[in-house]
Amino acid sequence: MSTSPTTLAQTPTHPHEHDEHCIFCKIVAGTIPSRKVYEDDDLLAFHDINPWAPIHFLIIPKAHIASMAQLTPSNEALMGKIMVKAGELALQEGAVPYPEGGFRTVVNTGRHGGQEVHHLHVHVLAGERPWQKI
Ligand code: AMP
Ligand code: ZN
Repeated sequence: MSTSPTTLAQTPTHPHEHDEHCIFCKIVAGTIPSRKVYEDDDLLAFHDINPWAPIHFLIIPKAHIASMAQLTPSNEALMGKIMVKAGELALQEGAVPYPEGGFRTVVNTGRHGGQEVHHLHVHVLAGERPWQKI
């Protein structure tokens, strides 16, 4: 008997796995191009189109989650995976290792949080300063 693999993105708490109007869902689907950094069953990482730092990419869950405000305990493994990947991919993309170098992670949530794209994403920023944004 075979069992189909279950990914973290397919948790039943996210019935709306894709939003046809969402730009990052379109990037996941491949209908909008991106410069890919990493991909697996749960996550996609791609370079930000308007970088604030020499290294600037975004890590997103493939499933459509609008923001951090929608997270539930069922997303703990997914979010942990994103945070572990952030440091790993920063080094892969050329970040100088901690502590001399390092990287910055930013998650904007809602209007007051400065969120423009409403599909959860973690910004990963690295490289020699100064940067365009602090
Ligand atoms: P936020 O303000 O946190 O919602 O950030 C959204 C980020 O998505 C911005 O830094 C944009 O430059 C970036 N962005 C928007 N459209 C694209 C795209 N098609 N490809 C890559 N990055 C994008
Ligand atoms: Zn989306």
